[in-house]
Amino acid sequence: MTNESTEIDHPEPHASWETRGYWEGAGRGEIVVQRCRACGVTQHKPRGVCATCLSGDLDHVVGSGRGTVYTYTVTNQNQAPGFAQACPYVMAYVDLDEGVRLLTNIVGCDPADVAIGMVVEADFAFGDRSDGEQFAVPRFRPVGVA
Ligand SMILES: [Zn+2]
Repeated sequence: MTNESTEIDHPEPHASWETRGYWEGAGRGEIVVQRCRACGVTQHKPRGVCATCLSGDLDHVVGSGRGTVYTYTVTNQNQAPGFAQACPYVMAYVDLDEGVRLLTNIVGCDPADVAIGMVVEADFAFGDRSDGEQFAVPRFRPVGVA
């Protein structure tokens, strides 16, 4: 999917060794989260160790791509390049079905229609990387909205 002029023109993400699994998953159209092999806890954001037991034995698992809006805000002013033309846009924390919370955007509906508890599913905004490949930024839309 290409960005429309009213969408956020996301800057290229800079993946670290800790976040590489997350960004590679996004590029495949998947929400990837970490799960600790030692204690079983699922976590996000990606880290080098488990935030619960400090084990470095982490696995990456593909999530369902579904969740619910925990909270949100409508951004009406942002002068940052790539974001100004997208106002108003919705920033939200989404509770994924895997039990972790993700900071993201809600798209595919009027910002006035977003609500806490709304069931949403992952969607991806693709952009061009400096090396000629593409990257994808996860965002969410109401379930059933194409
Ligand atoms: Zn752990």
